[in-house]
Amino acid sequence: MIKYNTKIQSIRGMHDYLPQDTTIWQYVENTLITILNSYGYREIRFPIVEDTNLFKRSIGEMTDVIEKEMYSFNDRNNKNLTLRPEGTSGCVRAGIEHGLFYKKEQRLWYLGPMFRYERPQKGRYRQFHQFSAEAFGQIGPDIDVELILITARYWKQLGISHHLSLELNSIGSLSSRSNYRKKLITFLEKHSNNLDHNDLRRLYSNPMRILDTKNSKTKELLLHAPMLSDYLDNDSHTHFSELCQLLDLLKIPYTVNPYLVRGLDYYNKTVFEWVTDSLGVKKTICAGGRYDELVQELGGDAVPAVGFSIGLERVILLMQEIDNKAFLDKKNTRIDIDVYLISLGDNAKKYSILLSEHIHSILPSIRLMVHHGKNNIKKQLHSANKHKTRTILIINEKNYLTKTVILKNLQLGTQETLQHDEITERLRHILYIN
Ligand code: ATP
Ligand code: MG
Repeated sequence: MIKYNTKIQSIRGMHDYLPQDTTIWQYVENTLITILNSYGYREIRFPIVEDTNLFKRSIGEMTDVIEKEMYSFNDRNNKNLTLRPEGTSGCVRAGIEHGLFYKKEQRLWYLGPMFRYERPQKGRYRQFHQFSAEAFGQIGPDIDVELILITARYWKQLGISHHLSLELNSIGSLSSRSNYRKKLITFLEKHSNNLDHNDLRRLYSNPMRILDTKNSKTKELLLHAPMLSDYLDNDSHTHFSELCQLLDLLKIPYTVNPYLVRGLDYYNKTVFEWVTDSLGVKKTICAGGRYDELVQELGGDAVPAVGFSIGLERVILLMQEIDNKAFLDKKNTRIDIDVYLISLGDNAKKYSILLSEHIHSILPSIRLMVHHGKNNIKKQLHSANKHKTRTILIINEKNYLTKTVILKNLQLGTQETLQHDEITERLRHILYIN
């Protein structure tokens, strides 16, 4: 039996964003949309749910995401589906399905919720939001640099660039990595008594992930381990040094982190992360890299690709943490309405709706709200006040008859009566609307 008096609550690690939160979300999203559009990237949308096999094939079976973080379920037809834990897989699937990559370049972006069954904590949730860009069909380091430049421009516009640093590495081709993998396993086997349970579990399945360990004892051990950079193939080596030269030319500071590997198997050559120390522990805000084999792996042509994903919750947390001006400005935008329209009497009410429609047509960007319900003037003024409105339009029976309206300017403490055809020009002037 369902108990009707128990409250149903949101799922752990999945959050509601209330109107006072969404202003900053829209700002953070729109800022990047504008930048990406200006670089010629176009939006793609694809489902939140995909065939589980898609993620297994692209992300790799021996990864944290596949082993323990996916929300998978059988639908009524016993098909195993998964709430997307990341977007690249679905983006590539959609691109192949619709022939987007056939003999052409594509620069795409998307944003939306991702789902991972992780232990919720600050900056780590079970439903979180990524903003990603992917560029298909270009092999050179110039496109890697373009993506890095876009992210750098974004941090600058948000006012958080001083709190972020860029880490880079090259993880080479699949074949150079398999050479290195053998050397690494041999080395780690010799020191297996120094490895923790988690590292041991990965020793044969995904030893490269051990490079990314958080365990300080393992970290120390790794200082003596063979280095991936010594096993890079020539092509990856050249690609990486060209990338670094371009970044130097563009004066984008970076550090080469030889231990940087990514959590998903599909990456090759360039990998990068933007990290911050300003959220308590070191956190990655944005991660990306090349995945030249993935399109083919998922059944498409051989199409090289590179992309990044930004964790939007972490971006907003960072802005909040450093008392960022843009954040505070957005948070303090309490004036949610430009003009509040109130009326007294039935005829005045009908006229007020007509007038509101007229104003919305002439001044489409105005934020105008009509008071509904049959309240007295005091109540209506009180509601206007709650919306922090500085401009109130009042229509009473007499105004209805003479087709006029009273404009109360709370900023200046003035009041005037305007003719119907004067109203929009006056509002345009007072509210600085173009
Ligand atoms: P981490 O090492 O923090 O688990 P990851 O390597 O799993 O990150 P990616 O798969 O590369 O992360 O995702 C890109 C970005 O998405 C991360 O840098 C982070 O900003 C964000 N992100 C990943 N997982 C979460 C999560 N559970 N909650 C909030 N943001 C997340
Ligand atoms: Mg993770």
